[in-house]
Amino acid sequence: MKKLDEALEHVKSNWQLEKEQRIKPSLWWKEVAQAQAQNPTANTDANTPKLSNLSADGKAWFIHPVAMIDYFPKSEILFQKGDKHEVIREINIRLAGFGGNVPTDEFTERTERMIKQFQRDYMQVEETGVVDIQVIQAIDRFQDEYSIDSFFTQAQCQCSTFKNLTEPTCNGFGLNKTNNGKTGANYAYGIEYPGLHRTLFWVLRSIMFYIDSDERYQHLTVEIVSSGYRCWADNIYNNRKSTNHMGKALDIHVIKKEKAKSEHSRDERINCCDLVRDILTEKTNAEYRWFHSNGIALENSYTRYHPTRGRDN
Ligand SMILES: [Zn+2]
Ligand SMILES: [Zn+2]
Repeated sequence: MKKLDEALEHVKSNWQLEKEQRIKPSLWWKEVAQAQAQNPTANTDANTPKLSNLSADGKAWFIHPVAMIDYFPKSEILFQKGDKHEVIREINIRLAGFGGNVPTDEFTERTERMIKQFQRDYMQVEETGVVDIQVIQAIDRFQDEYSIDSFFTQAQCQCSTFKNLTEPTCNGFGLNKTNNGKTGANYAYGIEYPGLHRTLFWVLRSIMFYIDSDERYQHLTVEIVSSGYRCWADNIYNNRKSTNHMGKALDIHVIKKEKAKSEHSRDERINCCDLVRDILTEKTNAEYRWFHSNGIALENSYTRYHPTRGRDN
């Protein structure tokens, strides 16, 4: 840990202030995407992780762990259960699709299980449950292999395209309104979060990985993010009250890879999406509906649903 802290000190020396100010906001995509839009080509040096170097393709970070690679012998344990570090928060976000996790800076029991699952399924190495440089490098490979660029564009709020809307429209990620239309900093039910949480896109990557690597799912492909951010203007326009889509949810469509989109019957589509529900249940510990906090929740489908609450209509 001492060595790691020295390395981190080195990496962060250029941007300590930005880190202090922006660690929390940069968990959300709006700031990330805006910073990138202002200055899309500047600063591609991975050792100077300014916020402008964040990109909308999921390569967002406030710490780039691989920048520390030279500091460590191959076998050294960087993090293990009980540790607490900003790099751990980043790992908890990026591997959330391997068992499910929350963006805490603590290396918990859950983090340990998550690392083991990532080692077993993605890296195909012995499960140690600790983070070494191989794990960090594998996370970078995982990111490169499963691009979410096009999905990110689809996931922004569409309210500005609605006709005859009387509400003020947003630029993709709400206007920071609360349930009563008031602006506030207290993040509770009905708040328009400042972006889509990055965890969602990292879980989407893991769905793509499990589709690829498991023969039960290899005939599938993620078609589109059909609904991502939906602000209050969108809700009012559509006469809808649900607020999960204010930064905490993505709806995705999954179809058969070898078949044209238009040739899918309704039942085929339902079946494809149910298979992804199975992936999420099995691989991320997702649950139907939202009876428990701090986990991944699934909307019910026509055939898969929470047994005591029935299906969504
Ligand atoms: Zn909107
Ligand atoms: Zn939804």
